[in-house]
Amino acid sequence: MRLSKIFTIVTFVLFILACLPLAWIINGEWAAYHSANEGLGSIQIAHLAMVAVEKISFERGPANVLIGSPADPTARERLRSARQTSDRALQDLVTALSPSNSAYHRQALAAVRTARRQLSEARLGMDRAIAAPAPTSNEIMAPIRRMFDVVPAVLEAVTALSSQASNVYPQLSNPLSGARLATELREYAGRLGSTLTPALAEKRPLTESEARDIHILLGRIEQLRGTIRLRLNIPSSQPGPRQAMGDMESLYFQQGLAQVDDILLDSRLGRPYRVSLAEFTAGYVPTLHSIVELRDTMLSTAADEAAAQRLAAFRHLLGAIALGVIALIAQLALFAYIRWRIAKPLLAASKLLSDIAHGSLDAELPASLRKDEIGDVLRAITILRRNNQEKRVLEQERQRLIDELTEMSRIDFLTGIANRRAFTQTADAEIARARRTGESATLILFDIDHFKQVNDLHGHDSGDAVLVHVAAIIERICREDDLAGRYGGEEFVVLASHSNASSGETLAERLRAGIAESPCSLPSGQQLAVTASFGVATLGEASATLESLLQAADRALYAAKRQGRNRVVMAEH
Ligand code: GH3
Ligand code: MG
Ligand code: MG
Repeated sequence: MRLSKIFTIVTFVLFILACLPLAWIINGEWAAYHSANEGLGSIQIAHLAMVAVEKISFERGPANVLIGSPADPTARERLRSARQTSDRALQDLVTALSPSNSAYHRQALAAVRTARRQLSEARLGMDRAIAAPAPTSNEIMAPIRRMFDVVPAVLEAVTALSSQASNVYPQLSNPLSGARLATELREYAGRLGSTLTPALAEKRPLTESEARDIHILLGRIEQLRGTIRLRLNIPSSQPGPRQAMGDMESLYFQQGLAQVDDILLDSRLGRPYRVSLAEFTAGYVPTLHSIVELRDTMLSTAADEAAAQRLAAFRHLLGAIALGVIALIAQLALFAYIRWRIAKPLLAASKLLSDIAHGSLDAELPASLRKDEIGDVLRAITILRRNNQEKRVLEQERQRLIDELTEMSRIDFLTGIANRRAFTQTADAEIARARRTGESATLILFDIDHFKQVNDLHGHDSGDAVLVHVAAIIERICREDDLAGRYGGEEFVVLASHSNASSGETLAERLRAGIAESPCSLPSGQQLAVTASFGVATLGEASATLESLLQAADRALYAAKRQGRNRVVMAEH
């Protein structure tokens, strides 16, 4: 596998390995924040449920008044508005609970739905009792009891919600259960008032069962007072709830219950009550506010604490995310640095080396080289490349010289046509080929007439000029595939391929005429007539090799000289 690929895979794997624990930590912080958020939400919804309990309790007051005086329009209006208030409180509670998917919330929602059903049934009974002309105690107490029964269902919701909050914030279980107990206390205090209502309305002493109910209620109220006090006595308790507890002691337990004691005393002694129902309601109900006050103080203490913890959880979450992001960025930066500083130059070095090994010396080198090991490698590669470049230049020069020498060894220096050696080599191969294919070929050998006289009379330079002149005529007259060469001194040779005796003779005749008809301009400016004598031999059984062809042509040439020169003589077979 290529190193670059391995590096990419390693980078990816290490990145994932770093992401996993980070994701785990962030997920943990997120879960803590989410749960803190839900816990706080539960405290807030528990408050809505406590308010709903309070409103349902409160609704009993005007209903009781209406039973005593059904024609009272103010009491009727108060009942209508109290019912509206408790309906709204329950609706708020349902709305707050509905979107959640927590099991506690579902449990609370089911309890609230039951409470709503019970409440509407209880109201029907209450309306019937109000409408009855002269309701008996039983007819009055039955709907009141059904109103009482609504409360435990809503309290169940309170319990579920505060349990969830206590799970998240165990240290808040005291204020949370304290608030719940205060809600219950408010309920029993309300019931106490409601139980006194029929006797006050009818201006009669309490029945035995009423008196018993009242004693039970007073017992519960006392019990709740003690439990709440216990919850508030622990050292961590906040000053706010303690203050609210003190207020409740003086308002409800002294002023409120004192009114109840008066009524109980009047009833026991069988004397008329000192207060009417309306006066009792007006005096007793406001003292209940101190219980509600205590409840709200405890709950808001818990909510403040929960909000502070949620904020802390949120900060932890943000911190974890920030740290995670920084760690990942740092890791990526490190990978990028290693890639830039080590991997990339190494890969570049390996590519350069491979290019040099394969003869490609023009690849670009990094502009600046660092003073590290990779820089050393690249510097060494640079030197290696320079050496190779120099070697290549030398090799090219050598090849050029070899080519030049080869060319020189084949070309006649004076005339520029093939020399004897080059002619012999090529002609040998051509004759062999012609013999293989059965084609014919003709060899023409000719010698300039009285050449020695040219040298003697006009000088050696003029002799050379005549030789160059004759070579130019050969080049002009011969076809491209005819082989022509300078055979020796002033002797020339032509091998005409694909030519028989007759066409060979014609070519020789054309050469002869060409030389004879074009005088040579000597360096002195003088025009000199030149002639040559020709011997022509054709490939055949007698002359099957270059050597035998040359011998035959030479004999014919000799004959041409003897017969008076400037003529063509055909070799005899
Ligand atoms: P013939 O008609 O019988 O051929 O007489 P010829 O004078 O041409 O023959 P000969 O063989 O006596 O003379 C040839 C001369 O050619 C001798 C030599 O000095 C001269 N020669 C040979 N090579 C060169 C050369 O390259 N340049 C010059 N200028 N002369 C050359
Ligand atoms: Mg000669
Ligand atoms: Mg000659």
